Amino acid sequence: METQTAERVTIGSYTTFPVPKEPKAREEHFELLAATAIDMLAAELSKGYSEGFLKLLHYYARYPTYSARNRLLIMLQRPEAYRVAGYVKWQSLGKQVEKGSKAIWVWSPLRKKQEDAVTGEMTDRIYGYKLSAVFADADLEDAKTNPLPTIWSPLPDDVQPLVDRAIERLKDEGITVTYKPLKTGVQGTATKDRITLSTKISDSRHRLASLLHESAHSMCHFGETAKGKTDGQIEAEAEGSCWVVLHCIGIPYSFSADYIRSHGITADQLRASLTVIGGISRCLLKLVEDEPNKELVDNNYAA
Ligand SMILES: [Zn+2]
Repeated sequence: METQTAERVTIGSYTTFPVPKEPKAREEHFELLAATAIDMLAAELSKGYSEGFLKLLHYYARYPTYSARNRLLIMLQRPEAYRVAGYVKWQSLGKQVEKGSKAIWVWSPLRKKQEDAVTGEMTDRIYGYKLSAVFADADLEDAKTNPLPTIWSPLPDDVQPLVDRAIERLKDEGITVTYKPLKTGVQGTATKDRITLSTKISDSRHRLASLLHESAHSMCHFGETAKGKTDGQIEAEAEGSCWVVLHCIGIPYSFSADYIRSHGITADQLRASLTVIGGISRCLLKLVEDEPNKELVDNNYAA
């Protein structure tokens, strides 16, 4: 449901900020909005992880971790697995593996108690490895009705028209968007000319955020502009500009700060990327705004 007045766009339950029509005023207005938005995001970032994110970290601290070799084995056997654990471990976490589920085989260490020759203390020694069966979260009895928590909690589902609009406009940029059942916790992936969005995203606000984030990667992170940047910087640029655009169109999004922080980026580092983020945001805004402005669109976003 989309209604329109001279300056504002109302879609579902949100209303965008009024944007001046005249190109110069519009650009200044946007620059101010972007700077304000990044300041707000940096302030959130400097507060540290949100309570919800800390709870999630605590929750997953109880889960087993796996070596690189086992992670590779898991990926080869069950690429969509988000968390895996042994049958009994799942039970201890209050979960039941569904009957007939296919096991994933990983190497687990064989240990025995041994007296330390120097200290005389009894310690656990690994004397070999055996193959053990683990099961994916997707094979739990309540996988569909009670999925494992992720940092993304559901939002209102009222901006699908904007998602569809952005997908149409990306097509004109030579970027194809498709939906696939990606691994839990992965919202989307991007290459230079293809974006894949997870079919598991619960609502259109998250879908729009993921689409903007992946669009930033597609449009700005393949080629010269990404050279010499760390993964953290690239993620901060994508998520930061996604946040700026969501802010500009009046959608509050509380997940970006945790996401950026989880990539080791500080508030100061985010502020230092303001120019680049402003440029990418301008580029993303044209995917969703009511009438994309040619003069804004053609600005060099990689400043
Ligand atoms: Zn990303």
